[in-house]
Amino acid sequence: MSEFTLIHLLLCVMFFGIGFVAAQWLRFPSKRADRNEKSPSNNASVLVEDNPQASLLNLEECSQKTDVAAAETINEVVERVRSLADGVRIEVHEHSQSVEQINHDLIATSQVSDPAGASRVISRLIDANRHLDSRLNLAEARLQEQSQLLRSHRVEARTDALTGLPNRRVFDEEIERLFEAKRDLRRPSSLVMVDIDHFKAFNDLHGHQAGDLCLKKVGEVIRQTVRGIGGNVMRYGGEEFAVLIPGTEMFDAKVATQRLNRNIERLVIDFEQKELNVTASLGVAEIGRDSDASEWLGRADRALYAAKRDGRNRGCWHDGQTCHEIARRNEDPVIEVDEESSTIARREAFILDVNRRLALFHRKRQPLALIIACIDLIDDKPVEEHPDFVAIQHAVMQVFGAALRDMDHICQLADNQFGALLPAADGQDAAAVAERARDAISRMELKTPTDVIRITISCGVSHALEGDEAEHMLSRSESAHGHALGTGGNAVYLLRHEMDWESPLRVTPEAVIANG
Ligand code: GH3
Ligand code: MG
Ligand code: MG
Repeated sequence: MSEFTLIHLLLCVMFFGIGFVAAQWLRFPSKRADRNEKSPSNNASVLVEDNPQASLLNLEECSQKTDVAAAETINEVVERVRSLADGVRIEVHEHSQSVEQINHDLIATSQVSDPAGASRVISRLIDANRHLDSRLNLAEARLQEQSQLLRSHRVEARTDALTGLPNRRVFDEEIERLFEAKRDLRRPSSLVMVDIDHFKAFNDLHGHQAGDLCLKKVGEVIRQTVRGIGGNVMRYGGEEFAVLIPGTEMFDAKVATQRLNRNIERLVIDFEQKELNVTASLGVAEIGRDSDASEWLGRADRALYAAKRDGRNRGCWHDGQTCHEIARRNEDPVIEVDEESSTIARREAFILDVNRRLALFHRKRQPLALIIACIDLIDDKPVEEHPDFVAIQHAVMQVFGAALRDMDHICQLADNQFGALLPAADGQDAAAVAERARDAISRMELKTPTDVIRITISCGVSHALEGDEAEHMLSRSESAHGHALGTGGNAVYLLRHEMDWESPLRVTPEAVIANG
């Protein structure tokens, strides 16, 4: 009985020993395939040399692209991993020898039926396994350290040290990736090149440190400006930045460029008790159907050059043939009362904008909403007859403009009619914006050159529907506005679908007292 138990015990111990070593190998899964053909000691060297080889490949790749310092760091890591590999190989070899010895001793104890001897041998085996386990754990921890080092080195090699933005190398990679994505998905993408104006003079005047601070601040402003639309900002080199906006057509890229232009111009750089300013010129190009990277970059560059040539502090875009200036956005949506002809021109431009946005809605289901707003009667008289008509319009546009987002467009469509176009907003969102503006205006006390008056506005809101055209959207919003007027004004109505035509949704609470 005792012999039977001992033999079983021996078998269990041998399986345990072999299983244990195998489990340690399996912690490095990449070399499983080679394992059967090699001796245990050889296995160890293959196992840990696998990582260094992968690093060597990276090294070759990197050394072509990066500086000598980067290659040296990677070389050092590779060397450290190699020596770790040697250490582990020796440990495993020694372990394998001691297991062999233990096996031998176990057989000897089983032949003389010595349970106490067998138990001592088993203890030795357990100790040997524990020792190997701890050595392998240590080796694994060191490998992790080295791999972390390589990772942080990779981040460093891709980051511009001054601005903290991704550097030119990332730009090259991103461009490559975009072309891959374009081939797969036929997605649009836009590229904006930003170059600080007269930066050499800025350095000469305020010093290199001020120049460095300026680069950091401008980089940050660009990053913040395009964050909302998924723009990827990189320091292209010197005082130039590149902004890649995947999934964005020229229409939105131009809006982003206007905002960049304006936000850089508004930036105040505090340096040694001075407040410094800079401007930048910008060039935009959308990826063409047959573009390659250099053609695309070339067009953005030509647009940037056009912006410089036309006087700097502006953006230009390239339509595939030639460059055009991007109109600067009004900082405050102040409406000047022009002659009728220019109002008509603005209405036409607005309708063109609506149609362009509708095309995106039809193609990509990007929501779109339209607000029509008018100033209600003042003392039962149309606002146009008020002596302070211009000042009143001005005030209303300022309050209304403040309620809108940067990407929204606002336009005077007629003497007392304003249109606001809200891309990426549905009817409810736009109605909430209109309601905020209505509420703010109704609380306002307006000091005009001749009087102190209170005014109210009414708004009609609709959103893009299947098969829509600009004129249809306008009529729906106008119809909703008509309902607001019909209930006494000072209200916002939302027309959600054609069925709503007769009874659009009142957004303003019933409790709000109508004007009049
Ligand atoms: P333009 O309006 O035509 O773009 O004129 P510019 O002076 O901006 O262009 P130019 O190419 O003549 O000068 C660029 C300057 O940018 C020269 C260089 O000293 C400065 N610059 C480039 N990199 C850095 C940097 O990292 N720090 C600082 N402080 N200056 C830099
Ligand atoms: Mg430059
Ligand atoms: Mg410059």
